[in-house]
Amino acid sequence: MNNFKIIVVGGGHAGVEAASAAARMGCGVFLVTQKKETIGQMSCNPAVGGIGKSHLAKEVDALGGLMAKATDLSGIHFKILNSTKGQAVRATRAQTDRELYKKAIQLLLKQTGRIEIIEETVNDLLIEKGRVRGVVLSGGQQLRGEKVILTTGTFLGGVMHTGLKNKPGGRRGDLPSNKLAKRLRSMPFRYGRLKTGTPPRLEGKTLNWEKLEPQQGDTPTPHMSYVFKKTTRPKQINCYITRTTPQTHEIIRRSLDESPLFSGAIEGVGPRYCPSIEDKVIRFRNKETHQIFVEPEGLKTTEIYPNGISTSLPVEAQKTFIRTIPGFEKAKITKPGYAIEYDYFDPRDLKHSLETTPINGLYFAGQINGTTGYEEAAAQGILAGINAALSLQGNGPWVPGRHQAYMGVLVDDLVSLGTKEPYRMFTSRAEYRLILREDNADMRLTPKGRELGLVDDKLWKVFNKKKTESRNEIDKLKKLKIRPKSPQASTIELNTNEKINSIKSAYELLKRPSIKHKNIPGHKKNLPQNTVDQIEAEIKYEGYVKRQLKEIKKLQKNENTPIPKTINFKLIKGLSNEVKQKLEEAKPASLARASRLSGITPAAVSLLLVHLKKTAKN
Ligand code: FAD
Repeated sequence: MNNFKIIVVGGGHAGVEAASAAARMGCGVFLVTQKKETIGQMSCNPAVGGIGKSHLAKEVDALGGLMAKATDLSGIHFKILNSTKGQAVRATRAQTDRELYKKAIQLLLKQTGRIEIIEETVNDLLIEKGRVRGVVLSGGQQLRGEKVILTTGTFLGGVMHTGLKNKPGGRRGDLPSNKLAKRLRSMPFRYGRLKTGTPPRLEGKTLNWEKLEPQQGDTPTPHMSYVFKKTTRPKQINCYITRTTPQTHEIIRRSLDESPLFSGAIEGVGPRYCPSIEDKVIRFRNKETHQIFVEPEGLKTTEIYPNGISTSLPVEAQKTFIRTIPGFEKAKITKPGYAIEYDYFDPRDLKHSLETTPINGLYFAGQINGTTGYEEAAAQGILAGINAALSLQGNGPWVPGRHQAYMGVLVDDLVSLGTKEPYRMFTSRAEYRLILREDNADMRLTPKGRELGLVDDKLWKVFNKKKTESRNEIDKLKKLKIRPKSPQASTIELNTNEKINSIKSAYELLKRPSIKHKNIPGHKKNLPQNTVDQIEAEIKYEGYVKRQLKEIKKLQKNENTPIPKTINFKLIKGLSNEVKQKLEEAKPASLARASRLSGITPAAVSLLLVHLKKTAKN
């Protein structure tokens, strides 16, 4: 009997987090993946973060995961998005060097220990009496284990399309997983087809850079991980912007009869919010131009990723339309764009722990569950790894609630509602986004991560330092009184255009949107930006957060209230027709389920609760 009781299949973004989390919790892990060399490979854009996604990356980091650390080790262009808006919707985004990212993940994985990497393809699962017992490799060899986590991404039944030509593939350069797909389809899981696409890559030496608009990264350079070293950062470089032209759109329109998307060759549903350029041209007929971010693939390569023009048109059409874009007049395509169609398994067949309901000990994480994106995959990977380890150790599962983490929102959405299109995270999916901020993912999750054995001493030290410093500073700001017409008041008024008419504590003043921590005379200098962000957000949102916490308590008290199958939603007074219709369609079994339906507001939930209480009395 070996000590390797957890088998993770796949070395993508879900797989590496799953393997690392389980290993950090003390379990021996076999990581079985098709190619060692592609562990941590970014299939599409070499970038991490963005709205909603950076929240996930930071939550994974707060639990000691790999993604944010690898991003800091490989990031070549960092920006804070929505920097002028509130903390809740601010997001860090990093362009990474594709090769450095992969190397960083492989290094971090090696440093974790207790993981044995096996370069093989898994073709089958060993199932005995409704319980997984291991996997069967391509040569027929059996690998036995107590828990199996499948993180096979876009590889199950993968078909790649360029124009009307298609061929089997997991992604460019990789074979699909057809035998495993066939086996899974024969099991009691619901499944479907989804698709996603990628743009052509360009040779940077053939671009006319003079015509592109440069975009600098932020200074000082932000970071993704709570634990980072300035000295290990690669050189920071610019990204650029250009736009499609009416001529580009005309060529695309003319080529549509050769598009697999419009000819019916692709059945899978694609991501609505990340459409191909063909989709954009058709859907937004009146738009004469679409923005393209011209992003470097890395420091040592001259290859360019033109973000915003993912396409599966024939190669000839791609070559022609590319050259109608300013700066791309002589551009050479190094790799054509393509779309990929693949199997996904309905996440409603999962428990919140990501263990499948039909088969004990079998977990699914990442794109296999109908999500898209590295961060979504990483978040599920770490949760699957944690829960497989907990179960192996004889403990119950741990899944953060919707009010504790975006990870909780992600898993709950998937498991409760399923998905019909590739699911990606948005801040709008979270009811409690004032609580779920980038700046406080560590405050929300690191103590639990430490308890679970996921968080090493380094992160724990950084966390405690931040916690103490922010507590001390907040206490100081509460005690610091600013009198009208005092030198301190004048300094604040001068720098912020605010008026101070009565004695106020610095804490009270910081609640005003235009006053920042740095505007308070006597503020503690040299605090890390992340600590300052957390201090400001905690003070500015105090009132809202209190209200949200009250709502959470109320919902938690009533969330198990069942909704009888016989209920007639149309009879509930005060609900809009739209809400009534949504409830009628979804027929939620409990108040908690109802509250998670999109468009069902806390006010609607309250009305529903009142109705349920009233009818229960009668
Ligand atoms: P992956 O990163 O795909 O990793 C799967 C791993 O499983 C690989 O290591 C593979 O070798 C291994 N594997 C598969 N089958 C087996 C087997 N039988 N045995 C052993 N190992 C196996 N995301 C976005 O957010 N936006 C986009 O625009 C976007 N475009 C994309 C375009 C393309 C063409 C592709 C391929 C992906 C795109 N993605 C996009 C998706 C993104 O790449 C995935 O969401 C993410 O990589 C999923 O991570 P994962 O860990 O689930 O799977």
